[in-house]
Amino acid sequence: MEDFALSRPDAIEVMFGYPNYSPPKHMLEAFKSVTSNDLAFEIHQYADFRGHHRLRAAVAEFNGILMNRKIDANKEVLITVGAIQALTAIAHTYINPGDEVIVFEPFYIYYRHIIELRGGVPVYVPLRPRDGQTARQSNELTFDRKELESKFTNKTKMIWVNNPNNPSGKTYLEEELVFIGELCTKHDVIIISDEFYQFEYKQHLRMATLPGLWNRTLTVNSGGKLFSNTGWRIGW
Ligand code: PMP
Repeated sequence: MEDFALSRPDAIEVMFGYPNYSPPKHMLEAFKSVTSNDLAFEIHQYADFRGHHRLRAAVAEFNGILMNRKIDANKEVLITVGAIQALTAIAHTYINPGDEVIVFEPFYIYYRHIIELRGGVPVYVPLRPRDGQTARQSNELTFDRKELESKFTNKTKMIWVNNPNNPSGKTYLEEELVFIGELCTKHDVIIISDEFYQFEYKQHLRMATLPGLWNRTLTVNSGGKLFSNTGWRIGW
């Protein structure tokens, strides 16, 4: 995919979102007030290794509302350098050389690099048009259930679900997420749910909130799209 981008400078790249507008005013004001306040010295210094407590508490509260459960800021939230570092940290924690990681195609390009950097083996499952038709809209994409099932082996460590999917824009149906969750439960496989684009959609189903999936799901997100500040590099 990168080779294609290099060899076709006229191609339109749809995978990396660069907002061409400023973050909302309240973000700019908060930024200004912190950087111009001599008394807010702590902000500039080492934080707790899990991230500044205030930020973790805010992420816990906000996600608690979205997920309808109480989230422990000390035990269940990690602040990272963007969603990318969250994915990398998870890969370094769980993937050992030779472990297989199921990834739906098309996928956000860094997935492959992060998994392979750990010696993991990406196992691809394509999103295909429903009923063998040509898909005109992203929501006409789905996966073949038998094909997905056939990719689970005794080496499968994780599955990476990107919902909404970048770059196709597909949002997974509840029945699709439930099916994925059932397979992961059966094979004791960890789920990464990268929900970076969730804020683009009014209705968004969070993998971790489906019955029985809280304990095996790591939800990855970032302020990049939520606050149109991809350069601030704040993820969780
Ligand atoms: N996951 C997906 C699906 C993305 O689209 C992006 C950024 N475009 C990221 C992760 C990386 O997020 P961040 O910029 O917060 O590292």
